[in-house]
Amino acid sequence: MSPWVLHIDIDAFFASVEQLRNPRLAGRPVAVGTGVIASCSYEARRFGLHAGMPLRKAREVCPRLLVLPGHAAIYRCFSERVFQICRSHTPAVETYLDEAFCDLAGTERLHPDVLSAAARLKERIREETGLSTTVGLGRSRMVAKMAARSVKPDGLRRLEAVEEDGFLRDLPLRELPGVGPRAGAILGKLNIRTIGDLRLLSRPSLVGIFGRVGDALYQRCRGIDTRAICAREVPRSIGRETSFAEETTDAETIEGTLYYLTERAAATLRQLGLRASQIEVKIRYRDHETASVARKLAAPTQLDSELFERAAALRRAIHTRRAGLRLVGITLGRLVPETGYHQLDLFSDAPIGSSIADVVADVHRAARSIEARRRERRLLLRIDAIRERYGYSSVVCGRSLRLLGQIPQDEHGFVLRTPCLTR
Ligand SMILES: [Mg+2]
Repeated sequence: MSPWVLHIDIDAFFASVEQLRNPRLAGRPVAVGTGVIASCSYEARRFGLHAGMPLRKAREVCPRLLVLPGHAAIYRCFSERVFQICRSHTPAVETYLDEAFCDLAGTERLHPDVLSAAARLKERIREETGLSTTVGLGRSRMVAKMAARSVKPDGLRRLEAVEEDGFLRDLPLRELPGVGPRAGAILGKLNIRTIGDLRLLSRPSLVGIFGRVGDALYQRCRGIDTRAICAREVPRSIGRETSFAEETTDAETIEGTLYYLTERAAATLRQLGLRASQIEVKIRYRDHETASVARKLAAPTQLDSELFERAAALRRAIHTRRAGLRLVGITLGRLVPETGYHQLDLFSDAPIGSSIADVVADVHRAARSIEARRRERRLLLRIDAIRERYGYSSVVCGRSLRLLGQIPQDEHGFVLRTPCLTR
């Protein structure tokens, strides 16, 4: 029997994050988007609102609707955390904006009871991020996703192989992945309205109408979906930013916060086995003027010290006004897989010595710096492991020390105004 696939979907993702960030929005109809709804809360859905609906129309239907422009970077922090928790459930996780497919093959001994393990996963995500999710379990990704869709929001459903046929047969056709409005209209003319009806058409006639998609539809309406789950490659960037509780001109607070954000971004970098080749620093003044700069690094790195040194220099370079800062942020970009060893920068640091003694000294210096980097990397990986186990705040390093006593702390880290960074 094929192994289980778990599909997890964050309920009303953007709108839920906004409700978590601002408790006054809880229980109220909230929509995120500009022009059209990108995401809306279940309170808004009760009025018939849905993603893709023009906001003007949405406001007519629901005059109490609260519309927010959205904060992509913050949503990404939340989804990253959710996916991180999924990866601790099973290593094979394929992620999208607000959903993930988890291949449970090989985890049978870890999770002998898939259903209660899935319930624990849901619970852990709620505890650590505050988000509600819906989970479906099936023998293929298609069935897992359809199982989840049938119990949204906050649901959990497992479809056994023997139940698949009955479940699929009576569902309306538009529930089948690959059937869009166009295909739905064509099939509607043939009086095909449910997934079961679709089975009446032969493979050649489906291929005749839809081409290659027809072949997939022929299989899917019978519950066959052989698409594998593949962890998706490298993210484009890893960003961390936060606004300050009060505008600040204090260099200690600004540097300390930047250090903390760099540390958090670098920990994610190491966890994904990546190094960054580019670093971007952003600041926002009290009057909302924003300054940012991005620079390529001489060599890709995943070390806190090297990343912070550059980030701090970039911050000083763009921080030219005396006005207080509202926000600081860092983005690590041009990510490349970590190779496990560091490039020798033998001759890049200093001019080549003129005598043999100078060259020997250069080689020694380079070897020392490689050794120092190795040591730092080993130390950081150990700190990452301790934090994973005992909470982020179990170790406070570097400039973050300056934040102690200034910014409240809990087990998850400093309690910043961007809550996903403390969770
Ligand atoms: Mg969703």
